[in-house]
Amino acid sequence: MTPEEFRRYGRQVVDWIADYQEKVESYPVLSRAEPGDVLADLPAHPPERGEGFEAVLADLDRVVMPGITHWQHPAFFAYFPSNTSGPAILGDLLSAGLGVQGMLWATSPACTELETRVLDWLAELLGLPAGFRSEGTGGGVIQDSASSAALVAILAALHRADGGTSGRDGITRRHTLYISSQTHSSLEKAARIAGIGAANVRVVDVDPATLAMDPAHLDALLTEDAAAGALPVLVCATVGTTSTTAVDPVPAIGAVCRRHGVWLHVDAAYAGVAAVCPELRWVNDGLAEYADSYSTNPHKWLLTNFDCTAMWVADRAPLTGALSILPEYLRNQATTSGEVIDYRDWQIPLGRRFRALKLWSVIRWYGAEGLREHVRTGVRLAADLAARIGADPGFELLEHHPFGLVCFRPRWDGLPADEADAATMRLMERLNASGDLYLTHTRAGGRVLLRMAVGAPATGPEHIEAAWRRVREEALAG
Ligand SMILES: *Cc1c(COP(=O)(O)O)cnc(C)c1O
Repeated sequence: MTPEEFRRYGRQVVDWIADYQEKVESYPVLSRAEPGDVLADLPAHPPERGEGFEAVLADLDRVVMPGITHWQHPAFFAYFPSNTSGPAILGDLLSAGLGVQGMLWATSPACTELETRVLDWLAELLGLPAGFRSEGTGGGVIQDSASSAALVAILAALHRADGGTSGRDGITRRHTLYISSQTHSSLEKAARIAGIGAANVRVVDVDPATLAMDPAHLDALLTEDAAAGALPVLVCATVGTTSTTAVDPVPAIGAVCRRHGVWLHVDAAYAGVAAVCPELRWVNDGLAEYADSYSTNPHKWLLTNFDCTAMWVADRAPLTGALSILPEYLRNQATTSGEVIDYRDWQIPLGRRFRALKLWSVIRWYGAEGLREHVRTGVRLAADLAARIGADPGFELLEHHPFGLVCFRPRWDGLPADEADAATMRLMERLNASGDLYLTHTRAGGRVLLRMAVGAPATGPEHIEAAWRRVREEALAG
C-alpha cells in the first residue's frame, strides 16, 4: 500500500469510525450472532492474490458487524465500561503508524520517556503517593491488563521474599498468597502461572455486609501459615471489586502486611481512576503508607481504549530484579550505563506497544477537568438510577454504590430463593435479548443480583431513564 493509497483508505476508515460513533445507538447492544455465524461467512482459505481494501471494508459491514457487541453503546451496562474516545483512537492509530517496538529505551527513547512522563502525570491527576513517581524509588508502567499487573506484582514480591532464589532455582518451599472471595480471578490465575499454586492461595474472610476483606482474619492466616513453615508472599487488596465494587480496608490490611513483612498489591482496576475527582480520592487511602504495587485501568473508565493498565510500584528494585535479563543481542550502551529505563524489565513479554501515545492524547484532549467531568457524570447517573430503584417497592437495591455500578433485583415476593434467582436470570436474558440494553449479573449476599455499570461516554440521563423503564416493564411481565 503506497502512502497515497493509505491516505485514500485511511480517510475511508476514519469516516467509517466516525459514522459508527454517530449511529452506535441504532444497533442492538448485544450481538445476535449464534456460535459459528461469523465463521460461516468467512472464506476457509486466504486469498492467493491481494484484494482491494474496499473488499475488506465491505466485509466489515457484512460479516463482522453482525458479530459485534456494542461496548460503546449508551445502553451498554454489562461488566464494567470499556471506554474509548476520539483522542484515544487517534493516539492508538499513531502508535500503529509509527510501528515502534519499545522493548528497550534504545529501541525508541520517546516510547519510554513519554510513558514515564504520562504515568507521572496520571499519578499526579489521581493524587497517588509521591513514592510512585519516577524521580523516586518507584515508578509507573503501562501493562496490557490488570491481570498482567497482578502477575508482575507477584513475581516482584517473590523476588523480594526469597531474595531471588525462586527465580534462579525454582520454587523449593511453600509460598502463600492472600485474597478474598471477592478478589478478581486473575490473582488465582497469576498464582498458578507463577508456580505458587492455587492450593496455596488463601481466601481471607469478608465482612458479610460490606464484602470487604477482614484484616483480623488475614492476620490470623498469616500467623498460622508462617508458623507452619510457609513463606507468605503477597496480599491483594481490592478497591472496587468486580462483583459489587466492595472496598477492602487498605490501611488496616496494609498495617497487617507491614507487621508480617508481606508485599501489598492493591487492585483498583475499575475504581482507581475515580481518584481524578477530589471527592472520591478516598479510594487511595492507605496507598502512601503501605502499597508496594498498585494498578488501575484507564481502559475501563478513563476514556482510553483497551489495552491500558497503569501500574505503579513503590520500589522498582524487586521488580527489575525479578524480570531483568540481558542476552548479548540486546546489550547496548544506554542499558549498560544504567541511566535509562528499559520497560521490558517491568513486564512479562519482551516486546511492547507504544501505548503511552493514546493515554497522552486522552489526558491532553480532556485535561484534568474533562476527566473529572466524565467520572462525575457516571457517578451521578448511577446515583440517579439507584435512587429510582430504591424508591420502587418492587425492587431491592444494594446500598453500596459509590462509583458507577448499581446492583439490584426485583423482590419476587413469595418466591423461594432459588426460584427468585432463576427469575432474575430469566429477566436478564429477556432484557439482553431485546437488544435495548445489556447488563450482567453477580451473586452477592447469597442471591443473584443484576449489575448495571454506568460509565460509557455516550450514556446520558435519557438512556438511564429508558433502561430503568425497560427493566421495570420486563420485571412486571415476568
Ligand atoms: C476488570 C478487573 C480486573 C481485570 O482487568 P483486566 O485488565 O481485564 O485484566 C482485575 N481486577 C478487578 C478488580 C477488575 O474489576
